[in-house]
Amino acid sequence: MIQEASRLLRHYIDGEFVASATTFDDLSPVDGTLVARVCEADEATVDRAVQAARAAQRAGWGETTPAGRAAWLTRIADGIEARFEEFVAAEVADTGRPLAQARALDVARGIANFRTFAELIRGAHSECFETHTADGGQYLNYVTRKPLGVVGIISPWNLPLLLFTWKVAPALAMGNCVIAKPSEETPGTATLLAEVIHAAGLPKGVFNLIHGHGQNSAGEFLTRHPGISAITFTGESRTGSAIMKAVADGVKEVSFELGGKNAAVVFADADFDAAVEGVLKSSFTNAGQVCLCSERVYVERPIFERFVAALKARTETLRVGAPSDPATTMGPLISRGHRDKVLSYFRLALEEGANVVTGGGVPAFGDARDAGAFVQPTIWTGLPDTARCMREEIFGPVCHIAPFDTEDEVIARVNDSAYGLAASVWTTHLARGHRVAKRIETGIVWLNAWFVRDLRTPFGGTKLSGIGREGGRHSLDFYSELTNVCVRVA
Ligand code: NAD
Repeated sequence: MIQEASRLLRHYIDGEFVASATTFDDLSPVDGTLVARVCEADEATVDRAVQAARAAQRAGWGETTPAGRAAWLTRIADGIEARFEEFVAAEVADTGRPLAQARALDVARGIANFRTFAELIRGAHSECFETHTADGGQYLNYVTRKPLGVVGIISPWNLPLLLFTWKVAPALAMGNCVIAKPSEETPGTATLLAEVIHAAGLPKGVFNLIHGHGQNSAGEFLTRHPGISAITFTGESRTGSAIMKAVADGVKEVSFELGGKNAAVVFADADFDAAVEGVLKSSFTNAGQVCLCSERVYVERPIFERFVAALKARTETLRVGAPSDPATTMGPLISRGHRDKVLSYFRLALEEGANVVTGGGVPAFGDARDAGAFVQPTIWTGLPDTARCMREEIFGPVCHIAPFDTEDEVIARVNDSAYGLAASVWTTHLARGHRVAKRIETGIVWLNAWFVRDLRTPFGGTKLSGIGREGGRHSLDFYSELTNVCVRVA
C-alpha cells in the first residue's frame, strides 16, 4: 500500500503542476517509511496562486451558470469515481486507516460532496418579499447570491479528502475561485483531486492547490494575503483563533469548524446493546480522530457497572494493525508527533487519578509496525469533571465513563465544556430524547445514532467549536455575497 518514495507531490497553480525548491517528507504512520516528498509553498508561490485565482475570477468563472457549474462538479465526481482505488490507496498511505473505511467513508464522501452540491445549486432558490409602504408604494425585494471572489480553504489531516472536498465543492459551486491547502500530514488525495480537476478541463486558475505547513508557512501566507475574500477552515480551535487574528485587519469572512470534547449520554432506559455498539463507534472510529468522537461518556447509575464491563469487552475485540491486514479494525494515529500528545494525556490521566479499564499504552507488534504511531484503545473511569483529561480535546482512541443520577445533572455536566460540537444521547424515552437534545449546547445532537450526516443539514459548532454553519443552503449562503435588490413596482 505504500506508494513509491520517489513520488514528488507538487502544487497546482493556474492550470499547471509546479514544484518548489523546498520539500518536506510525508511519512507513513504505519511504519515510519517515506510515502512521498512534498513541495512547500513559500510566500511568492502563494501569491502566484492568489493572482491566478483572481485572474480566473475576472475571466468570468463567477458568471457561469449554476447548471454549467453543476456539470463541472459532476465531471469531477465522475473523475474521482474513475480513479476510486487510487484515491483509496493515497488516503491509506497517508493515514494508515483500514482500507474498508477509506472506501466506505473517505472516498465515497469525497464523491458525494461534489454530487450533493451539484444537485443543490441546480435546485437553489432565493427569498423574495412583496413590500408595501405607508405612502402606497409597492416594491419587490429579492435576494441574489453572488460569488465572494477568491476563497482560501485550509483543511486538517483526520478525514483528508472528505473535509477538503466538503469546502472545495460548494466554493466552486457558488462561482468562487479557490486556493486550497490540505494538511501537511495528508497531501496525497488533494493532489490526486488536482489531477482529476485538471483532466476535467476546469478553466485554469479556478482551482489552485498549495502544499505546506501552517504557522509561518503556506497556511499563514494564505490567510494573511490581502487578495483573499474569505477563509474557510477546519482544524484546531487554537489555529482558528490564529487565523481570525490574521484576517481581522482585512475584516474577511470566516467559517470555522474546530475542535470538540463531545459527550455521549446513556440513560438506563436505552437499548443497552445498541448503546454499547454506538459508544464503541463514537469513541474509537478512525482511532478517535474524528472531531465528532465522544471522549466523555455519561451512563445512568443503575446500568453503569454493566455498561463499563460491556464496553471494555467490545473494545478488547478491536484489532489494531496495518491496513494491509483485512482483520484490522483500528489503524494508527496520524504521526509520532500526535502520538506523543495522546500519550502525554495517558500519563496525565494517571496523575489525575484515573482508573484504566483497558488499554493505556502502546501495542508491541515485534515487526515494522513498532516504528509506526499506534496506541491501544483506552477506557478510563474515576476522573472528576474538572480533570484536564475531561476538559481538553485529546483526539485519540480514548473515552472516560462517569455515572450520573438525574437528567438535569447530566445536561449540566455535558454543557460544562468550553467546546460545543456534537453529542449523542441513548434512550428509548421519546419525549426525554427530544427534551435533552434541545437543552444540549452543541451544533448537532444524535439520538440513538452517531456520525450519520445528511449533507443538506447545517453543520458546525458552538463556543470553541466553531463559527458559522456549512451544509445544504448554509454552504450556499456562506460561499456567496447575499445581495438584496429592491425594485419599485407601483
Ligand atoms: P490544525 O489546526 O493543526 O491544522 C489544520 C490545518 O491548518 C492544516 O492544514 C495546517 O497546516 C493549518 N495551519 C496550522 N496553523 C496555521 C496557521 N497559523 N495559519 C494558517 N493555517 C494553519 O488541526 P489538525 O491537527 O490538522 O486537525 C485536528 C483538529 O481538527 C482537531 O482539533 C479536530 O477536532 C479538528 N477538526 C474539526 C472538525 C469540525 O468539523 N469541527 C473536523 C475535523 C477536525
